[in-house]
Amino acid sequence: MTEWSPQACKKIAVVQGDITREQVDAIVNAANRSLLGGGGVDGAIHRAAGPELLEECRRLGGCPTGQAKITRGYRLPAKWVIHTVGPVWRGGAHGEDQLLASCYRSSLDLAVEKGVRRIAFPAISTGAYRFPLERATRIAVREVLRFLSEHPGIEEVRFVCFDSGTYTVYRKVVEELCGER
Ligand code: ADP
Repeated sequence: MTEWSPQACKKIAVVQGDITREQVDAIVNAANRSLLGGGGVDGAIHRAAGPELLEECRRLGGCPTGQAKITRGYRLPAKWVIHTVGPVWRGGAHGEDQLLASCYRSSLDLAVEKGVRRIAFPAISTGAYRFPLERATRIAVREVLRFLSEHPGIEEVRFVCFDSGTYTVYRKVVEELCGER
């Protein structure tokens, strides 16, 4: 038996672009444990959402690695921002794979709780946190496919790749796991 349904494969999309422009119910932020903003996608989301986002984040008291917290999206097209904290890559023997998988599951759990139907993810941990891209992509796609198989309320999960190298790897991994769609 496969770990996911063929329907799950039809609900995922890989696109290249800027996640702050995604017109979905929720976008996911690759945040750090303070939740007080940073570089990369985190900085882009805070700039696009406006200062109210930081104000709400200050009240959350941070977030442990592998978990997620949700705020409003303010000036973003997305109604919600789900902030998750990916693991810093330290060679792979420090629970990095499990923590990264947990980021995707925790984010999707919060999405379901809020009735989110369409959600966009960045390539969590693959920038400043240096998680090897292909390994991270396999974890991301597999966890999302498993989750979708059990939660029919989520209609679309978009993997938003900022650069063409990331886009190519996501396309390859989705084809490996789902075949030609
Ligand atoms: P982390 O600290 O979790 O590694 P980064 O923000 O450094 O997070 O990188 C995660 C991924 O997000 C990288 O692939 C990076 O290129 C990408 N990224 C940066 N800005 C954006 C953006 N505006 N939209 C989507 N992805 C982005």
